[in-house]
Amino acid sequence: MMRLPLFQYRAPRSLSEASRILEGEGARAMLLAGGTDLLPNMKRRQQVPATLVALRRVKELRETRVRKENGLALGPCLTITEIARNSRIKEQYTALWQAASQIATPHIRNLGTLGGNLCLDTRCNYYNQSYEWRKAINFCIKKEGDMCWVATGSHRCVAVSSTDTAPALMALGARLRLVSQRGEREIDLVDFYRNDGIEYLTRRPDEILSEVLLDSQAGWRSTYWKLRRRGSFDFPVLSVAAAARIDGDGVVENARVVIGSAASCPMIAAQACDFLAGRRLDDETIEEAATLAARVAKPLDNTDFAMGWRKKVAREFATYALRELRGDDTRLARERLVRHSLFYQG
Ligand SMILES: Cc1cc2nc3c(=O)[nH]c(=O)nc-3n(C[C@H](O)[C@H](O)[C@H](O)COP(=O)(O)OP(=O)(O)OC[C@H]3O[C@@H](n4cnc5c(N)ncnc54)[C@H](O)[C@@H]3O)c2cc1C
Ligand code: SF4
Repeated sequence: MMRLPLFQYRAPRSLSEASRILEGEGARAMLLAGGTDLLPNMKRRQQVPATLVALRRVKELRETRVRKENGLALGPCLTITEIARNSRIKEQYTALWQAASQIATPHIRNLGTLGGNLCLDTRCNYYNQSYEWRKAINFCIKKEGDMCWVATGSHRCVAVSSTDTAPALMALGARLRLVSQRGEREIDLVDFYRNDGIEYLTRRPDEILSEVLLDSQAGWRSTYWKLRRRGSFDFPVLSVAAAARIDGDGVVENARVVIGSAASCPMIAAQACDFLAGRRLDDETIEEAATLAARVAKPLDNTDFAMGWRKKVAREFATYALRELRGDDTRLARERLVRHSLFYQG
């Protein structure tokens, strides 16, 4: 049995108290939300904070607030289940609802939070292993070692961003509010991430993610496609989130396509987005946009499925996602996907 290392446990009751503790403790402290990622990581000695600052008693982080012009502000400590059960999210922020509904298992969704999901550690076959396993290969750059087993000539860790909600929220144009003793700041979700397996967040150690901000999605449609081995539960190993505002004549006014789990952060497919603007979503446009979107997917051999196949899936998913935004019924394609992934041997 793997045991947790010793740590000090702090349980503040307000955001200001939490941020005071975090300021005082510095980089030796970590925030604990549902603990479904952090605690297993601590057991494997991947993350060994001396202090855990638990957020579960901070009521203001569990609130949902309607913003001006019908937008929404989501507390980061809302559980994934609460997100997946919210009918307004299902209707207006469909990509987020689809992403949340496909995270892990019901038990984990009951504990795991939105904020924890956005700050989720990056993953890699050579890292998500027990301490003894990693010691046997002399560790790797991400923790305690000096080489990368995936890109052996690289000085940079290329572990994979494995969050489901981040690509979906990026496609929805989400912004984040971060709070610290120095004050608060608002940033685009896209600026929260770095394409670096170790320093994958731009968040400072003293900052707490305090709100996820969404504008009204009137006139927009959105969707999320996730590749995983088991349809019942598994981390994403490739995903496509897409959102578009389409006018009455079927012409795309604005579009966002995001590729997830193909780098150390979700990647906006900027060329595809530019190409789609001003065009009708006919089959040719969709094919061309999907090809452009897949270009940003550069999967490596550090997670499930063959990397070449994951790259091909990026194009397929982008095609299906855009067809779904056009109004096509893609339910059969989704069902086929679950069966095919389960039996794929690559
Ligand atoms: C078997 C299994 C399957 C899983 N499958 C999936 C999956 O399919 N898709 C997926 O996306 N995830 C999956 N996960 C990962 C995890 O369960 C979820 O990502 C969950 O949402 C994490 O939330 P949490 O509250 O438990 O985070 P925690 O473990 O509490 O924290 C995770 C990280 O976020 C930081 N953090 C938390 N809250 C804040 C905040 N407010 N401000 C700043 N930093 C914060 C913590 O310090 C930590 O670094 C899986 C986990 C397991 C064990
Ligand atoms: S990508 Fe390389 S450095 Fe990063 S976790 Fe994997 S093996 Fe380690």
